Amino acid sequence: MVFEVGRSYYNFKLLMEKEIKEIKGVCRLFSHEKSGARLMHIQTDDDNKVFSITFRTPPTDSTGLPHILEHSVLCGSRKFPSKDPFVELAKGSLNTFLNAMTFSDKTMYPIASRNDKDFVNLMDVYLDAVFYPNIYKKKEILMQEGWHYELNNKEDELKYKGVVYNEMKGAFSSPEQILFRKIQETLFPNTPYRHDSGGDPEVIPDLTYDQFKDYHRQYYHPANSYIHLYGDGDLSEHLKFIDEQYLSAFEKIEVNTQIPIQGAFDEQQEVTVEYPISTNEKEDEKAFLSLNFAVSQSTNPELHLAFDILNNILLGSPAAPLKKALLEAGLGKDVFGSFDYTVLQPVFTVVSKNTNESEKSRFNDVVFSTLKYLVKNGIDKKLIEASINAYEFRLREADFGRYPKGLIYAMKSMESWLHDADPTMHLSYEDSLETIKTALTTNYFEQLIDDYLVNNLHRSLLIVKPKKGLAKEIEDEVYNKLKAYKDSLSEGQLEELIAQTKELQRFQEQPNTQEELEAIPLLALNDIDKEPEKLPLVEKEEQGIKILHSPIFTNEIVYINLLFDTKHISKDLIPYMGLLSYVLGKVSTEKYNYEQLSNEVNIYTGGIYFNTEAYSQMDNDEQFYPKFTLKSAALVKQLPKLIELSKEIIENTLFTEEKRLKEIIQEAKSRLESVILNEGHVVAAKRATSYFSPLGYYQELSTGISFYKFIADLEDNFNSMIEEIKGNLERVKSQIFNKNNLIASVTVDEKDYNAFKDAFKSILSNLKDGNIEKVNLGFEPTALNEGLLTSSKIQYVAKAYNFRKLGFEYKGQMQVLKTIVSLDYLWKKVRVSGGAYGAMAGFSRNGNMYFASYRDPNLKETLEVYDEMNNYISQFEADEREMTKYIIGTISKIDAPLSPSAKGDRAAAYYISGLTYEDLKNERTEILSTKEADIKALAEIVDKLMKENNYCVLGNENKIKQNEEIFNNLVDIFN
Ligand SMILES: [Zn+2]
Repeated sequence: MVFEVGRSYYNFKLLMEKEIKEIKGVCRLFSHEKSGARLMHIQTDDDNKVFSITFRTPPTDSTGLPHILEHSVLCGSRKFPSKDPFVELAKGSLNTFLNAMTFSDKTMYPIASRNDKDFVNLMDVYLDAVFYPNIYKKKEILMQEGWHYELNNKEDELKYKGVVYNEMKGAFSSPEQILFRKIQETLFPNTPYRHDSGGDPEVIPDLTYDQFKDYHRQYYHPANSYIHLYGDGDLSEHLKFIDEQYLSAFEKIEVNTQIPIQGAFDEQQEVTVEYPISTNEKEDEKAFLSLNFAVSQSTNPELHLAFDILNNILLGSPAAPLKKALLEAGLGKDVFGSFDYTVLQPVFTVVSKNTNESEKSRFNDVVFSTLKYLVKNGIDKKLIEASINAYEFRLREADFGRYPKGLIYAMKSMESWLHDADPTMHLSYEDSLETIKTALTTNYFEQLIDDYLVNNLHRSLLIVKPKKGLAKEIEDEVYNKLKAYKDSLSEGQLEELIAQTKELQRFQEQPNTQEELEAIPLLALNDIDKEPEKLPLVEKEEQGIKILHSPIFTNEIVYINLLFDTKHISKDLIPYMGLLSYVLGKVSTEKYNYEQLSNEVNIYTGGIYFNTEAYSQMDNDEQFYPKFTLKSAALVKQLPKLIELSKEIIENTLFTEEKRLKEIIQEAKSRLESVILNEGHVVAAKRATSYFSPLGYYQELSTGISFYKFIADLEDNFNSMIEEIKGNLERVKSQIFNKNNLIASVTVDEKDYNAFKDAFKSILSNLKDGNIEKVNLGFEPTALNEGLLTSSKIQYVAKAYNFRKLGFEYKGQMQVLKTIVSLDYLWKKVRVSGGAYGAMAGFSRNGNMYFASYRDPNLKETLEVYDEMNNYISQFEADEREMTKYIIGTISKIDAPLSPSAKGDRAAAYYISGLTYEDLKNERTEILSTKEADIKALAEIVDKLMKENNYCVLGNENKIKQNEEIFNNLVDIFN
């Protein structure tokens, strides 16, 4: 259908239409005349369609109102009154993305699907949720999602509970998150950005029900909304639907949510905040120092792009001069930058992590003297070229992982649209990029540094420093506040609180009615493909090496993985192998010093990385294939250079630069710490798996807590161990790179395979011909059941075992059970009633399974929830509709769309694990035919698994110590 500018379609007037070649799409901008809603359409041939509605929601305080509202509107609405339509959609739609996000100035509700019918269903539920939520009728929604007082008996301790309350307690447990949450407050003291839209746990309980309702009434109006439609869907039909079902009921109103500009400062501001560390941790070298600059406005696309690249120039690679200067000055053990363009005045940040507050003026001096030096003497042109190329590669590759392209484009457009500017300005980047490329012959970046950093007083020095016992102090403060409040209450008021607590519990426990559940639209099983997607893989051989070729369209890019088997690496060298993956590519080689090497890699390739991984035999975790992998990407025309650089790193890396090795170890430690603090559920589940599984044990040694402890030990004893470190890196390197243990996987179009073949010829010339006999790791299963102590305010509770060891076989039905228990049983017990942010489950073909909670205020209670799961499963009841729902939800996870490189990786992983297309087909048939009785039959397995009692808890040291009797061992993580 042809659309004409100036004409109206279902009350949507077309304001503008233009082609955007960078995203291979046509963009149209509409205004809904009656309601004032804005709509942006991007037409492409992408079948992964995206819809989203965004509201401008500047916070008025730090109670987290926008965030709590984001959760709450998805808890039932006019047409879909069940308590959790969001969960119902997660259980039973073909969505490829389903979430909601609160930013510091907007709230976004995106969905994506490749199925037309499903897409409209999801859009319907989301629009009804935002415009007609049940929050007005049910106060319990705010209590559950935001915060409430919990009091079960008069003599009990009064407590705060709530999903967002606990989620934010978790967020405020990580010093890095505290740092990034506080930056805006230091730079924008007179605008809404000074507040925390997510919610500060100390302030969340100030939120009242009236404020909550008022905010929705005012801000969730079409006139304050921004709608996105993306993909190959039928625009007319979608416009008609949105108009007739929703927008036509609204009259345009004035909504004053525009965000004001913060005027610049006369002088640099300085702010210090504290974060908790546990009582046994050292305070020394635990502070963060940061300099933050407000850089112009988000409606300047060229500057935006240029600063993204400048961030990489200054801080992004081993060759980055600001990073080098800070590390050389001993300021911090990890140095990084960020450029936050999601706010009206984008923020450039430099961070030195793991240093001391006493260093703050030296930090300030080194940053500015380095910047001034660069302005005066110029930046290395090779580095500029490398940074621009690396950036351009990522732009053209447009691989956003699990995020649909359309969602990324919608988010990009909001950077300008939210502030009433052209929403396409950040999507068409070619012209800006051309201008920026003049930097190769001019002082373009030097001028930016001078104008926006050196001579910019709108900046802050933010210090985040550790304080022992602060967690306890805050806990006591909350305890005293609640105690005083409780003491102030009359008998009658206490009765009322108890009644409210019970009322909320009743609300939470009451199941949805059949009618409520059936209101949520559901596809039929016929809407689903009976066959799994085929991932093409052709086995080839070049130079005697097995090649796994995935012939798929990659847009002139080639992805190469070199997988070196490491079954012959002895146990004492496994952690060194992990260290080697951090070192390669970041130290000098015979031909290049490390700065040159980094520049060469960025100029000619899309990256060369190393990691350690282990693939399980598909049906046996005792048989696994450990690999040391080189992962790389490049344009096809750069293939010879990619192979040459890979060879140079593999063959000629030098381990002689002691100072550089120390920097790499420190940075690795810092990055591992962030993982432990932010992904504790994965860490705890991995640790629990290592108690009984040889595969899990291996993964722990090479990437888990054991590996973190190894790295921490190297850092502490670096000077006395340096010779040992160098020797072991050399040893492990010479054992890994060997022509007898190599297979390669390559993902590239058929037509470009010959280019790969030619380039690959030189790969073996200097590789050794070594022995690769498997070594015995001496693994002995032991249920260590550890409590891993940190200063975190919450826990991650994991329990795991292997069902094959108990004599059970894998069945596709287990994947349906996973959907059922994660989205029904665990969701209700651990999240809704327990107050944790989330809980998950996993069943692998090799028999390993786990349950884990995320940002959980509880500990023992959650373990009990796991132990009682078999009762829930054995009494599980579902009619045909309910079963269909769970089956569809399960299939949607399995069918999640993959980028070309991810397809190649997955095909290779299936090959190594011995998993065939027939296996996948059988699994799918089992899933599609799952019945209530099949689920019930799995109760016995879960019961036996839980009785094996393998668990691990990571989190709050006081909470773990209070439950000491259930652990065999308590381990301090960070000391
Ligand atoms: Zn949240």
